Amino acid sequence: MQKYRAAAAAPKAARTPRLRLDTRTEDWDEIDPVVSEPKRVTAPPNPGTPTATGEGLIAGVRPGVCQVYAQGVISTCRSMPGLAVGDLVRFDTTAVRQILPRRTTLSRPDPRNPRLERLLAVNVDIVVNVVSVSSPPLRPGLIDRYLVAIRRGGADPLICVNKSDLLQDARELDILDIYRDIGIPVVLCSAATGAGISDLMDTLTGLTCVFTGHSGVGKSSVLNAICPALALPIGEVSSGADRKGRHTTTSSSLHMLANGTKVIDTPGIRQFGLWEIGAGDLQAYFQEFERFALRCTYADCTHTHEPGCKVEEAVRAGDIAAERFASYRRIRETLLE
Ligand code: GDP
Repeated sequence: MQKYRAAAAAPKAARTPRLRLDTRTEDWDEIDPVVSEPKRVTAPPNPGTPTATGEGLIAGVRPGVCQVYAQGVISTCRSMPGLAVGDLVRFDTTAVRQILPRRTTLSRPDPRNPRLERLLAVNVDIVVNVVSVSSPPLRPGLIDRYLVAIRRGGADPLICVNKSDLLQDARELDILDIYRDIGIPVVLCSAATGAGISDLMDTLTGLTCVFTGHSGVGKSSVLNAICPALALPIGEVSSGADRKGRHTTTSSSLHMLANGTKVIDTPGIRQFGLWEIGAGDLQAYFQEFERFALRCTYADCTHTHEPGCKVEEAVRAGDIAAERFASYRRIRETLLE
């Protein structure tokens, strides 16, 4: 039986709207990086303790300096090129000396110089992509971009749908079944009412996770709901017609929660470029295509125009969600630019 509404005709690649990485909308990148002070939620450091050295965890980075967490103490010392929040390092009293191998990364191209990788966080178990029911509206296309970036970096994704208190009709969230069907956990919550926050916390306990999402979705509010001691600043969503939100966090910062969970807050963004993913590699990140793609007439089928494309057939038959297929084609176009 078909799963999704069958697509009448496959979307034409040439007609799909182009998503461009528009630096003009990336307010965050216009701001000089400033690290928000990591909060000590665990035992505060003893003021008499000498600066820790040895192995540590990078809690914040700004030009030239970084904050290293080790043995319950946060020290500030000289940074080194390529350092990212979440890095495990060897350091001494003056500087970070070595970055230890990374398990996972979450990165995107620097909007001002797309040839440079901008690491949002490293060594995370889970990337929590925070979205909101409305204000700003749910944008599955942006979720799909995040999912590609998350999978590329090796972490597991979780979709956190905030502002459930604004939900008018539960059917508005039917679109999220597409993600549940492909095995991605979806947690519905409201930072405003507290609904779903303990479910989210249960899922994350003991892990290192990074929270990321479009500005204004309530990412900081959700983090504060999880751990009020964080006291992250909350922004107002712009009242303009686009309700795009504005950026309150200006760079990534790591926070240790009392239960051992480590959370990394990242700047809110409006468009998410993909780092070092070729158009030909893209389908690997749309895992539900795979079993159909294996039967395409051409082994190197791009699923855009080829005869005998089983992926397009599956979309027409409702076995692959048309929305995901449209995302694949839009993202592919941007990668070809
Ligand atoms: P961020 O930019 O994603 O970090 O978003 P903020 O946490 O700064 O919140 C942006 C706006 O959304 C603020 O006006 C919050 O009060 C509001 N907000 C956050 N969470 C909720 C929620 O669960 N429900 C409602 N109705 N508003 C929320």
